[in-house]
Amino acid sequence: MSIQDHHPQIILWIERRITFLPLCITIINFVHQIFSMSAIEKVSCLIIGSGPAGYTAAIYASRANLNPLLYQGIQPGGQLTITTEVENYPGYPDGVQGPEMMVDFEKQAKRMGADIRFGLATKVDFSGHPHKVWIDEEKEIHADTIIIATGASAKWLGLESEQRLNGYGVSACAVCDGFFFRGKEVAIVGAGDTAAEEAHYLSKLCTTVHMFIRRDAMRASKVMQDRVKNTPNIKIYWNTDTDEILGEKNVTAVRISNNKTGEKQDIPISGFFVAIGHQPNSDIFKPYLEMDDAGYIQTIAGTSKTNVAGVFACGDVQDKNYRQAITAAGSGCMAAIDAERYLAAMGH
Ligand code: NDP
Repeated sequence: MSIQDHHPQIILWIERRITFLPLCITIINFVHQIFSMSAIEKVSCLIIGSGPAGYTAAIYASRANLNPLLYQGIQPGGQLTITTEVENYPGYPDGVQGPEMMVDFEKQAKRMGADIRFGLATKVDFSGHPHKVWIDEEKEIHADTIIIATGASAKWLGLESEQRLNGYGVSACAVCDGFFFRGKEVAIVGAGDTAAEEAHYLSKLCTTVHMFIRRDAMRASKVMQDRVKNTPNIKIYWNTDTDEILGEKNVTAVRISNNKTGEKQDIPISGFFVAIGHQPNSDIFKPYLEMDDAGYIQTIAGTSKTNVAGVFACGDVQDKNYRQAITAAGSGCMAAIDAERYLAAMGH
């Protein structure tokens, strides 16, 4: 005896369901599409990034009634949140802490009416109008204008040991992590203003700061060079390469070599800081925007306009020359004004 003989009604019920299954799937897909479409958000001005450039663009765009939506990215406040005192931003006669300044920028943008949200732009489509941006790989935004203010990120030496020990004594931010090395010996690689500033910062916490410079000169400004050279517990090593960071679970030493003499040396340290510059955060825009070899977005001279109409770039992602908070803020202002004029010309 088969199952049909025992449960004819059950079999009939199953057969009917199977007949209707393709129709059910079609209906479910249709409903899903309707919901996905309604999840698309339309804005006139989308700002991507939350450093001085992004927040300044948000302040100006808000005041121009563009109702900007700003996504902050993974590091709200940008690079200034990992710096110490900013002495050269006009309007702060006594200097200001970088993170504190970015909180002020955000507050001001919010007070002007900007919609500020946490989220990372993961994909864009600038092939037509409106421009499309996906946040955290799911939320889709359609924008008449886009202001890119994604800044730049720290570069690494590229050593296997550097990545393996990252967070276990290796860091790209002295201000964030220097505290953990109080009373210990540390090393820093780099010779620009960042390295000089961070070496000086570390010298106040640590017993000795070994500073490795690959040439026989520093790139840092004269005032910063003097500050480093005149600090007794900063020991400078000229013409020096970092070969390896040593340690199993934590940093215990660093192996360096003199690139003129070939002489090698192991120096016992607890912390290793990398301060060798930054990489513009422009990867997701590569299919659409013109960039230089290093990945800096190219803008039309004297404007924030990119090669795509309605897409503007400001701050460090398009500036490899100045890279200052004040120039980033200035270019954010330019981008908001350019966006406003573009929208006006389009009849918005
Ligand atoms: P920079 O690009 O100015 O300097 C990077 C440094 O790292 C250079 O000295 C470079 O050496 C060195 N370097 C690069 N790659 C390697 C490597 N693989 N191994 C060893 N050394 C390496 O970057 P910064 O982050 O210092 O500064 C960026 C900008 O921000 C600058 O314009 C700077 O003036 C500005 N700034 C201003 C501050 C302020 O005004 N308070 C504070 C901090 C930064 P080399 O010289 O040989 O190329």
